[in-house]
Amino acid sequence: VGCGICVHKCPFEAIMIIGLPEALTEPTHRYGPNGFALYGLPVPQVGKVTGILGPNGIGKSTAVQILSGTLVPNFSEDNSNWERVLHHYAGTALYDYFSDVVDGDIKVSQKPQYVDMIPKAFKGKTSELLDKTDERGKLPELVERLNLSHVMDRKITELSGGELQRVAIAACAAKDADFYFFDEISPYLDIYQRINSAQLIQEIAEDKAVLVVEHDLAILDMLADAVHVAYGEPGGYGVITHPKGVRIAINQYLKGFLPEENVRVRPEAIKFEVHPPRVETDINTLLDYDAFSKKYGEGFSLSTDGGSLKEGEVLGIVGPNGIGKSTFVKILAGEIEPDEGKLDHNIKIAYKPQYIKADSPMQVRYFLGGLSNKFNSSYFQTEVAKPLNIERLYDRMLTELSGGELQRVAIAACLCQEADMYILDEPSAHLDVEQRSMATKVIKRFAENNGKTAMVVDHDIYMIDMLSERLIVFEGEPAVYGKAHQPLSMQDGMNKFLANLDITFRRDEDTSRPRVNKKDSRLDREQKAKGEYYYHD
Ligand code: ADP
Ligand code: ADP
Ligand code: MG
Repeated sequence: VGCGICVHKCPFEAIMIIGLPEALTEPTHRYGPNGFALYGLPVPQVGKVTGILGPNGIGKSTAVQILSGTLVPNFSEDNSNWERVLHHYAGTALYDYFSDVVDGDIKVSQKPQYVDMIPKAFKGKTSELLDKTDERGKLPELVERLNLSHVMDRKITELSGGELQRVAIAACAAKDADFYFFDEISPYLDIYQRINSAQLIQEIAEDKAVLVVEHDLAILDMLADAVHVAYGEPGGYGVITHPKGVRIAINQYLKGFLPEENVRVRPEAIKFEVHPPRVETDINTLLDYDAFSKKYGEGFSLSTDGGSLKEGEVLGIVGPNGIGKSTFVKILAGEIEPDEGKLDHNIKIAYKPQYIKADSPMQVRYFLGGLSNKFNSSYFQTEVAKPLNIERLYDRMLTELSGGELQRVAIAACLCQEADMYILDEPSAHLDVEQRSMATKVIKRFAENNGKTAMVVDHDIYMIDMLSERLIVFEGEPAVYGKAHQPLSMQDGMNKFLANLDITFRRDEDTSRPRVNKKDSRLDREQKAKGEYYYHD
């Protein structure tokens, strides 16, 4: 495939590995003769949050198993032993680390990537799970700061995704360990909760070594001190680079080129606009909707402003968890009825729900093919299926797909339908950083090329920034009431949204990507005084 100088066959034709990175000469570990090979290891450092940035299937968990002493790296030999490992790392930062591992002096605390698995393994109450982890006497403080008091008496099997994630973070943080590993903190959490968890993890790192994998780049950026970029061929081989400063690492990754390694990880750069997109006023209106409201029994109530949606635009939907975003899009999609205000429209809406169920054992090919005959069009195959990398899943059963695979099939299924408007509820969930960027591009191009309206609910600020022309902002009190504003310009919408969160962003000088300002820093205070939370002069 492709360039002729690739070390391995590239997964996407366009991805070139230029030259032979030094690290590729000898794998750190290989699973069997033709198995996955890992090159390099991250270096945990006391007093630092070390991040790993790269796609899934590239050996991150393998590296952590090695660092926790449960897997002895074999350097591609038939056998393995710690003596060889110590010899190999003599004179490097990892030598002292592995000496402690061998002496049994390293205790590891890990937060698993897939929190949805926890209820399968533990059926008791939240308090029963957490009490066992309280080795530092910090549990009460963690429960308070992660806002978990109200779920302590609830069964683990009854928790929402966001609650499970915070329980898992609390459990990992409460233990007394030398090395903490958080495999993604952002799934199911809103921006406020992501930043809150990030701050908590930074505090652990004051006197411990912490390693994180995180695919929300705005969060990784504020959380990590140093970052190892991971690249390669998912399932084939993975290379973990030397550590880089977090800003440099993310910038190199977005540009798609790692200069020190002389490796191109993506054919083109991921770019950000400094100025808000212009709101076109002369575009045809797709739908005018009136204000409506919905109340769940004696529980949560949602009220909305009316609004006007334009043909071909992408609207971002932002707000905290439990504020009614999913309820709003379900009402628009006709899945549920509002109590007051009628939505009489005869436009057709395709809808990807937040929680995707795959209960029928059906082949992906038949599932997508059954939605519309667009599936067989070359447009769908080249513009949707190929960039989402789902062709290789066609023969698999829906019920056998992983979270990330199912998400990509669900996005494709939504875009495969004949409709006037496409609504995607949290498409970034379970996707790694590379898949998010591809999904963003697919959705944006789809709306542009076909003149279709799209609505995207998401918490990933980079995704929202790249996708949206306008924003629908939700405010209120989570689980009590929510209010949806009319669609606003990106400038007004971001200001409203971030003022509620009390967060400002600055722009990176090199890539223009948004970066969270430290609270009460000079820039934070200046921008708040000017009301410029996101876009500024
Ligand atoms: P990541 O954490 O980056 O998603 P992993 O380290 O879990 O990646 O896995 C990298 C690759 O190694 C995957 O292709 C996986 O199938 C393979 N792999 C993981 N564990 C084993 C094992 N015990 N034996 C053989 N292959 C494995
Ligand atoms: P978001 O998508 O912003 O997280 P949702 O629309 O899913 O918010 O939910 C808003 C609130 O309504 C939450 O407190 C949720 O628990 C509650 N809720 C959602 N669906 C139902 C339902 N069918 N019955 C009762 N309460 C519900
Ligand atoms: Mg939701």
